[in-house]
Amino acid sequence: MKGEQPSLSIEITKECPLKCPGCYAYDASHLGGGQTLRDLNDRRGQALVDGVIEVVDRLKPLHLSIVGGDPLVRYRELELMIPPLLARGIHVQIVTSAFRTMGATWAGLERLLIVVSIDGLQPEHDARRAPATYDRILRNIAGQSVTIHCTITGQMMKRPGYLGEFLKFWTPRREIKKVWFSLFTPQVGDQMPEMLSSDERQQVIQEMMQLRTQYPKLDMPETVIRQFASPPHTPRDCVFARTTQTLSADLTTKITPCQFGGNPDCSSCGCIASMGLASVAAYKLGGILPLGTIFKASIRIGEARSKYKRKSGQKSPTAHALPILQTKEASCASLVSAEEPKAEFDRNSFAS
Ligand code: SF4
Ligand code: SF4
Repeated sequence: MKGEQPSLSIEITKECPLKCPGCYAYDASHLGGGQTLRDLNDRRGQALVDGVIEVVDRLKPLHLSIVGGDPLVRYRELELMIPPLLARGIHVQIVTSAFRTMGATWAGLERLLIVVSIDGLQPEHDARRAPATYDRILRNIAGQSVTIHCTITGQMMKRPGYLGEFLKFWTPRREIKKVWFSLFTPQVGDQMPEMLSSDERQQVIQEMMQLRTQYPKLDMPETVIRQFASPPHTPRDCVFARTTQTLSADLTTKITPCQFGGNPDCSSCGCIASMGLASVAAYKLGGILPLGTIFKASIRIGEARSKYKRKSGQKSPTAHALPILQTKEASCASLVSAEEPKAEFDRNSFAS
């Protein structure tokens, strides 16, 4: 409503010690063509800490996702920036491959979420993600409290029982708080073995519906899983894309239309953040008005308000027109009861 997006994602570094096949962060089209992530001037040390805090103070997000490259490349800077970020009351999420150890105090920090990306079972994961192998991840997350995020690929779905095996390995471990699944999201025109056929997509939906009852740490409400059957048609229809701003490693370059950059194939989108917010948007307030309608009206008013302010330098007459979404307390998360789809899915990118 205020013309500011409530969620922010920052690629704090262009560096990563991994070379995962299919990583979208280093794709030539990620920044829209012309330049790539590696071409940007990223920051380090106090300049990075100050830069992130300045962006956050300017954009005032409710949720910040810190990604890369791998953000743990800037471990020392993270140690310095996390306390002041949390002190501002925002929710902070770090998405990493866990190639190195993390802060000793991170597990106990309220509003800090560590998401570790795992690409399937050990043989497939280790082949793709060395040096962040299973053995190394298990050592590095000892004593932490992390969320596992796995992107399901076409190859995984060709092996019956794969997802169950994955959950059987990870969920008994005390360091694992919850598990999220996304589905591989291609760019328009891609032909890749990671892509799921429509039958495989249906199969994933059925399996997730069953597995969530068997493995309570699989934090995927039914309402969210159902959204995978009907992803947004375009970025304009994607609540996640419209409510999240993504900045790259120079803290200036915007990544559009969403964290994937380039020209993502929304009709095959499998991003859990997009599905999570779509499920919230589909929730009917008072059983009548879909929240998505309010989101879209709010976004339109916010955009108009920003435009008005930019043009006139004055306060917009719409500033107090619809108070329902003006405060943190009235954000989507608090409008949804525990029985309904939660908005807590990281509005993130999962490049790490
Ligand atoms: S998150 Fe998915 S649906 Fe949303 S804009 Fe990106 S690819 Fe499209
Ligand atoms: S997917 Fe993540 S960990 Fe892998 S190369 Fe890309 S940024 Fe690095």
